Amino acid sequence: MSARSLDIGIAGAGVAGLAAAALLARAGHQITVYDQFPAPAPVGSGLMIQPVGLAVLGQLGLAEEMIALASPITRLLGRTEPRGRAVLDVRYPRGYRGLAVQRGALFDLLYRTAVQTGARVVPGTRVSGTEEQGGKIALLTNSGALGPFDLALDCLGPRSALCPVAAADLAFGALWGLVDWPEDGPFDDGHLAQRYRAASVMAGVLPVGRARPRTPRKATFFWSLRMADHAAWLARPLDDWKAEVLELWPDCACLLDRIRDHRDLTFARYAHRTLGRPVSGRLAHLGDSYHATSPQLGQGANMALLDAMALAVAVEQCADVETTLARYAALRRWHVRIYQAASWLFTPAYQSDSRALPIFRDWVMAPLGRIPPVPSILAMLVGGKIGGPLVGMGLEWPAPRDGW
Ligand SMILES: Cc1cc2nc3c(=O)[nH]c(=O)nc-3n(C[C@H](O)[C@H](O)[C@H](O)COP(=O)(O)OP(=O)(O)OC[C@H]3O[C@@H](n4cnc5c(N)ncnc54)[C@H](O)[C@@H]3O)c2cc1C
Repeated sequence: MSARSLDIGIAGAGVAGLAAAALLARAGHQITVYDQFPAPAPVGSGLMIQPVGLAVLGQLGLAEEMIALASPITRLLGRTEPRGRAVLDVRYPRGYRGLAVQRGALFDLLYRTAVQTGARVVPGTRVSGTEEQGGKIALLTNSGALGPFDLALDCLGPRSALCPVAAADLAFGALWGLVDWPEDGPFDDGHLAQRYRAASVMAGVLPVGRARPRTPRKATFFWSLRMADHAAWLARPLDDWKAEVLELWPDCACLLDRIRDHRDLTFARYAHRTLGRPVSGRLAHLGDSYHATSPQLGQGANMALLDAMALAVAVEQCADVETTLARYAALRRWHVRIYQAASWLFTPAYQSDSRALPIFRDWVMAPLGRIPPVPSILAMLVGGKIGGPLVGMGLEWPAPRDGW
């Protein structure tokens, strides 16, 4: 298919949409990306790019810029309170790091690359459906049809209007806020740190580096919250809630000082969905519209990058739209299934009202996690390596870096 240029419409300018736009525009296809945002902007605060995601960013020529902005993470360390026992302890192997980044930093790099490679990004456009038009596919909006295109990509995220199956809401979401990194504070800038009481209370601190060179370093603070309790949290005095956080984790005082209003925190609702088949007709689902889940394993953006890469590889390798989409689905099938299943299994151990699961986590999973080869398997799981995600894509696993 690489011999001819395709006209491709992409719904959604998030991680999946912009990465796909950049890769496909660079390969010579005509790309238009539509998003509902009034002007290009990221949603959310911070996230982790794993080695597998870095492989895709490397393919886009963005790895070094991302590394320069990120906080390189050596260890994921979660302790139960009040005892302080480490029940989550995953270390990246020598030569590797997780990259904790501001969502805006990743967005800026992907957006700039998509536009520089020739993609057109159209804001202020809410996509609500698709329609077959003369053997092609159109994207539908309130003000009419867009296209028609040879191929359409649904990159609308977890609540996609184009997805045939609605994502199931999870009982817990989390409050997320971006605050200045406390340079002289008590936190290790190489750790994703979490504190738990059973599985119903959880707080986390992630250093997320800089938005742009020479801007101040930031941190993401997050606090697990039942969806059903969000309205009550908004009605509650902020200081009451801060007292609850400090009772769990007194070190957070220096971060909470920077949160002065409920609006300084955003409530992220989590939902879970895995499509059995991420393609139909001339439409492919990428990113969270294909596989939404809680961010506990820190894989969603990485999987969105992998989807974009797989789609671009399939377009390059196949002769028509039907075989292209079948190839895309085949390239992603096992990695997506394994990680969605792992996320479904692990999330309730960290976010649920279960009494049994945190006991199992603390007294079975945690000790088991220290017995070789389990630590290496966990590091591979977190790094995104299980399920051979790069096989068939012509991408190498990133080489170990000196000093990491
Ligand atoms: C709080 C939180 C923390 C996370 N942490 C991590 C992490 O550490 N590591 C990790 O890898 N992943 C993490 N994730 C998951 C990650 O953010 C997602 O998996 C990733 O952003 C999915 O990318 P996407 O392109 O599919 O969707 P999104 O990035 O959500 O982009 C969807 C885009 O579609 C647009 N849109 C939606 N509906 C419409 C419509 N009807 N019409 C037009 N435009 C529309 C939106 O404006 C948005 O720009 C986290 C998620 C959350 C919520």
